[in-house]
Amino acid sequence: MNKLGIHALVWTGGWSEAESERAIAATAELGFDLIEIPLLDPAKVDPPRTRRQLEAHGIAAATSLGLNFAADISSADPEVAARGEALLNDALAVTGEIGADYMGGVIYSALGKYPGPATEEGRRHCVRALARLAGRAKEIGVTLGLEPVNRYESNLINTGEQALEVIAATGADNIVVHLDSYHMNIEEGDLARAVETCARKLGYVHIGESHRGYLGSGTIDFPTLFGALARIGYAGPITFESFSSAVVDPNLSNVLAVWRNLWDDGEDLARHAKRFIETELEAARNA
Ligand code: MN
Repeated sequence: MNKLGIHALVWTGGWSEAESERAIAATAELGFDLIEIPLLDPAKVDPPRTRRQLEAHGIAAATSLGLNFAADISSADPEVAARGEALLNDALAVTGEIGADYMGGVIYSALGKYPGPATEEGRRHCVRALARLAGRAKEIGVTLGLEPVNRYESNLINTGEQALEVIAATGADNIVVHLDSYHMNIEEGDLARAVETCARKLGYVHIGESHRGYLGSGTIDFPTLFGALARIGYAGPITFESFSSAVVDPNLSNVLAVWRNLWDDGEDLARHAKRFIETELEAARNA
């Protein structure tokens, strides 16, 4: 059934040889199938070494990133948009080289709070760049995922429906919707309906609490979410995502506004999350 994944930032904010080894080994020890590796700076990842470590531990990988305001395919400025596309191409190359078959996240705009709404011209740049990226991704067997995020982290795609619209505009068949419970809790009126609306194109799911800490200690209605995933027969990856000031990636933690310490012990958090997700999946399947 679903591959269970965990975001690397539960383990480490860096990707040195020792850091990636520890993160991948811990992922395997706890019984997860997949690790999601952030590629905001693709040059931080040594692809052959990462691939060897993944293979040694029998762990699959997915990658994710958000663009930034200097490199943003949804910018009306063609130079900024071109830098965004170059960053995506670098990240896609690393994704292929480490043997991952999925790259998702905020790959359609900068990850951050925009000072105004998205422009038509920016949206056109975005759609064209994603269509080109999808063509290159297809050649190396990679599926792309558009992750709707809350209004403080992008002005272009905040809901599943908006992701479907952009995917349709690209005409590509290897771009999927990537839903995240943390963002859905802010932007979607109805968790189940959002899953059902995206059903045919849903390809990746992030499970995060309303405060991005321990699952079950916030306000997200997980039985409703997992119930909808079971009803649509979702069989793709389900990846736990959580952030605390205890583990910091200078590229990612600040744009995600990770200011508070929600946990110290990533291993205890991960063990708990795996049990929580498995219990919810089982209950939803048997309902
Ligand atoms: Mn997410």
